[in-house]
Amino acid sequence: MSVSELCQSCALCCNGALFSHVPVEPEEVIALRVLGVSSHTRPDGTVAMEQPCTALQGNRCGIYAQRPKRCHEFNCLLAKALHEGETTLNEALEIVREAKEKFAAPAQAHLTGRSLRDHLAMYFVRRRAAFKAKK
Ligand code: SF4
Ligand code: SF4
Repeated sequence: MSVSELCQSCALCCNGALFSHVPVEPEEVIALRVLGVSSHTRPDGTVAMEQPCTALQGNRCGIYAQRPKRCHEFNCLLAKALHEGETTLNEALEIVREAKEKFAAPAQAHLTGRSLRDHLAMYFVRRRAAFKAKK
């Protein structure tokens, strides 16, 4: 069981598949800028990095040790399930493979726009029962 192995083959929470942006704390902005990662103030006054994240290098975070607090704290449902032994690494990798396939080719997967986001959210963000049902 290895969440880091799973994440290194995934990056869906960094590449724009699951989220459009990542909130950052105002005090993190300068440190991010020094690292070459841009952020901006949103209309509601909060600060965020847009996704796909400019710090992403392949499937890995290029600023991993200095990533923002929100990134540090985030674990998707699938990663949590793997960590807690509710699914195996092979099953989790298969869910990631399918999700990436659908994200890369939504038309072939008959998933577009909101339905694609809903599909991805089901496994990674919203409903924990979704991948357990695959067993
Ligand atoms: S979406 Fe989940 S499995 Fe994928 S990189 Fe993010 S935390 Fe890891
Ligand atoms: S800073 Fe790193 S962990 Fe955070 S969204 Fe960007 S690539 Fe992902």
